Amino acid sequence: MDDLQFGKRNKRGDWAPNARLEIAPVFTLPPKPAAFLKWLPHYFLPWNLLFALSAVLYWRFVIPDEAVLQTLEWGWVLRLLAVNAVAVFLFYGAFELRLYILRAQGNRFKYNGKFPAEHKSPAFLFGRQNLDNILRTFGTGLPIWTAIEVLFLYASAHGYGPWLALADHPFYLLAVALLVPILHEAHFFMIHRLIHWGPLYKWIHSVHHNSVNPSPWSSLSMHPVEQFLYFSVALYHFIIPSHPLIALYQLNYAGFGAVVGHIGFDKIEMGEEAGLDSHAYTHYLHHKYFEVNYGDGLVPLDQWLGTWHDGTAEGEARMQARYEKRRARANAAAAAK
Ligand SMILES: [Zn+2]
Ligand SMILES: [Zn+2]
Repeated sequence: MDDLQFGKRNKRGDWAPNARLEIAPVFTLPPKPAAFLKWLPHYFLPWNLLFALSAVLYWRFVIPDEAVLQTLEWGWVLRLLAVNAVAVFLFYGAFELRLYILRAQGNRFKYNGKFPAEHKSPAFLFGRQNLDNILRTFGTGLPIWTAIEVLFLYASAHGYGPWLALADHPFYLLAVALLVPILHEAHFFMIHRLIHWGPLYKWIHSVHHNSVNPSPWSSLSMHPVEQFLYFSVALYHFIIPSHPLIALYQLNYAGFGAVVGHIGFDKIEMGEEAGLDSHAYTHYLHHKYFEVNYGDGLVPLDQWLGTWHDGTAEGEARMQARYEKRRARANAAAAAK
């Protein structure tokens, strides 16, 4: 595919899409019903449906019977950890293999012209981004993910929490399942904004931001505290009446969904003519500029708080004006001392 039909490349070789990043027309006022209906299929396809399907497959083939879940035993806990680890290895690895190792589409649609493997950096463990990212993903990310999974499976098997039966409340539970991506986005925005606060950023979130040029393995490469905050989104299902299958969907949405923002390519080419939109540019801009796009634009929190960067020149100017204003305030405060 000719990526210059969809965007432009600068002197450094970085490619950027022409199209403006759009906020999902869900919470817009006044409501835009036509835009909403046009957007609606994108709410499900391809990613959300895939993550929901992963939860159903887990429920059917991986999660043990309730009688087994009632007793904490290493056997089923370690099996869950192994399944999660293999699933992440295969899912993330598929993007890594095709786009970063085989480089099947070169740097077509690639936001950052460079590949992370091309340079060493002391910011990473052993100086290698990939090795650092993989160690953090499997060393702490997967165990934390699995621990939270075990927690709600064990609790639901004992009836601790407001769990409902699917047969008794099918429509209510369907509604909760439909809200999973929105809950994820709202939760992620809040914890993400929190750990951008100076001291917490330095201690916790800077680990994730070491990957200025993110690749699939950067997705879960976080400080363990951030990994815990990130996956704790599933714990909302202890508060809202829910079903463990939906909590599992919430968790898989976080775990598998993390890769979506870190693919580093705008389209994954599917043959000569077609490409799958990654929707990774929003979060790529966050990695590039740090203080924009704390969320992904599903819930317009960035827009409300003035931190939305839509990828255009105007978006860039708004960001610069905000930085300028802050610098002036800091200078004024320093001068007053
Ligand atoms: Zn990120
Ligand atoms: Zn951040």
